[in-house]
Amino acid sequence: MAGKIKKIAVFTSGGDSPGMNAAIRSVVRTCAYLKVECLAIYRGYQGMIEGDFVPMDARSVNNIINKGGTILKSARCDEFRTKEGRQKAYDQLVAADVDAFVVIGGDGSFRGAQIFNEEFGFPVMGIPGTIDNDIFGTRFTLGFDTALNTVVEAIDKIRDTASSHNRLFFVEVMGRDVGHIALNAGVGAGAEEVLIPELDLGLERLLESLKRSKKSGKSSSIVVVAEGDKTGKNVFELKEYVESHLPIYDVRVSVLGHMQRGGSPSCFDRVLASRMGVKAVETLLEGKSNLMVGIIDNEIVLTPISEAIKGHTKIDHELIRVSDIMTT
Ligand code: ADP
Repeated sequence: MAGKIKKIAVFTSGGDSPGMNAAIRSVVRTCAYLKVECLAIYRGYQGMIEGDFVPMDARSVNNIINKGGTILKSARCDEFRTKEGRQKAYDQLVAADVDAFVVIGGDGSFRGAQIFNEEFGFPVMGIPGTIDNDIFGTRFTLGFDTALNTVVEAIDKIRDTASSHNRLFFVEVMGRDVGHIALNAGVGAGAEEVLIPELDLGLERLLESLKRSKKSGKSSSIVVVAEGDKTGKNVFELKEYVESHLPIYDVRVSVLGHMQRGGSPSCFDRVLASRMGVKAVETLLEGKSNLMVGIIDNEIVLTPISEAIKGHTKIDHELIRVSDIMTT
């Protein structure tokens, strides 16, 4: 493939995350720098099937590095899961003279890219964009750092009202399968307990910890709960459970929801996106394909997409220990 790539398409797919625009900008500007044509695809695989393409040049991405969401829109596309749908997408790319694409998205989007590559031998590169930080082959995904800052800021505000009324708050954060947001934001915001999918602490321990906290004279308590925590109870059931076992507590619930995905990307995410976009384009031009760009030990690294979609990054057990010590 070396030397043959003259036009690269870029798109965002699946759940959006802050930093996607910075990554689009980086891919477009790197193409301009290396004198490769660049095409944007709107609405992910859906737009690919429909041929919703727009040529991009360095000026098309002015003033987007600081914007949340994705200017290219994102979509979920069931048609792309079918062979016929992918054939249509391939025909559209060929008709537009596209030689390779960069997909910015999560593991579902990468799975689609992998199948597409296997079927048509079409060169693909992945940039991990998801706030969950759940993709193997990178220590950080785009949007994770921004989401953490958003969550910590929200919990700080909740704590103000919690401590004014001596209340206990259960704060639900995103993370159905992984607890990276809950654990990191929990430590960052000084939570009493963090309930995550990777670890079943048990309800007994939660009650013990809350009793201890009350005894030690703390005026408010925050428990951060990942959506997929293993207690078997959602935040509202947890509230009822604690109120019935520990009537001394006045309990409130706050579900942070989609605000966690929004907002201007942090500097960390902007820099990461810029580095990843450069690497994605350069790697395609070197004739490589079917790889995901990641960051490990502050080095930009490449992982086969087939491996990236197989596993999740493991929860940091040292950070769980730190969290335990901090609640003393
Ligand atoms: P994310 O990329 O955030 O994990 P999804 O799991 O919704 O989001 O995937 C985004 C899109 O990727 C899907 O709507 C679909 O078009 C495509 N996709 C996901 N899994 C597959 C698959 N197994 N085969 C083909 N396309 C897929």
